[in-house]
Amino acid sequence: MKIAFLGLGIMGRPMASKLVAAGHEVSVWNRSARQHIDGATTAVSPADAAKDAEVVWVCVADTAAVERVIFSEDGVEQSLREGMVIVDSSTISPSATLRFAERVNARGVHWVDAPITGSKIGAENGQLIFMVGGATEAVEALQPLFKAMGKLVIHMGDTGKGQAAKISMNLMIALIYEGFAEAFTLAQKQGVDPHKLIELIQASMVKSGVVDYKAPFVLRRDYSPNFPLRLMHKDIHLLLDLAKENRVKLPALETVDEIYELASEEGWDDLDYAATLGLLEKWAGISSGKK
Ligand code: NAP
Repeated sequence: MKIAFLGLGIMGRPMASKLVAAGHEVSVWNRSARQHIDGATTAVSPADAAKDAEVVWVCVADTAAVERVIFSEDGVEQSLREGMVIVDSSTISPSATLRFAERVNARGVHWVDAPITGSKIGAENGQLIFMVGGATEAVEALQPLFKAMGKLVIHMGDTGKGQAAKISMNLMIALIYEGFAEAFTLAQKQGVDPHKLIELIQASMVKSGVVDYKAPFVLRRDYSPNFPLRLMHKDIHLLLDLAKENRVKLPALETVDEIYELASEEGWDDLDYAATLGLLEKWAGISSGKK
């Protein structure tokens, strides 16, 4: 298939590489033009990348970035042709997704929201999970592409339902990690061996995939970004906006947001969100806390 891939960040770069490896004809574009992927052509704009594409796959930071790559002066909209499919693997607002979809649907183009979970390691290993919203025929036609990049596709429902599911899941990730980080800090302060604590957690009913992924990094205090703190913070704001829109109260998330605000003030936006542990350790006077 002819695919335009827009956004070569932590997730987009390995995803585009997997599509190339699966034999697809891929044209890539990234905002900072230095990016290149072996076996793909490098486009000068989103419109250029999309000009011959059957599928346009987007994986950029946030709602504003998706709007920019699709609808700006040199955006994909300039190259739309009837029958094309736009797939958005960024995590963005479900209501903006509906607006974007409506605008391209008017031109005979499908919009499939297909946000992802699995983080950097999942993307590099082709083990992502896609949660998908959109018309069944469009989703079915994308199966070979999902298969090239991931291990599971769950069709959540119509347009926007993939984003709605994804953002709700990130609420859990933020809270599970915060619960782990607080327990980890308190146990360390009482002299519990961190390795033994993690062994215990993962053998017990509180075991979690989040701890599974993060523990090796935490034990080394390696906060190089797999999922940058600024992006989790973006998702927390998306969630708090959605909570208002839907008249839902999220008191635990409001508290966790304060931690992210403080971590951001520390200048940790580009570290992994696991670095929020560093604040708890600092407040607890634990010397291994992130400086
Ligand atoms: P990232 O490494 O920060 O990459 C972000 C990408 O978006 C870069 O290509 C960046 O271009 C581009 N971008 C940002 N603002 C833009 C704008 N205004 N116009 C055009 N391009 C813009 O992020 P990532 O980790 O790959 O995440 C991408 C998306 O996947 C996000 O929505 C994130 O929430 C979601 N996600 C991430 C993970 C994870 O673990 N990392 C897991 C699941 C979902 P430049 O290179 O020019 O900055």
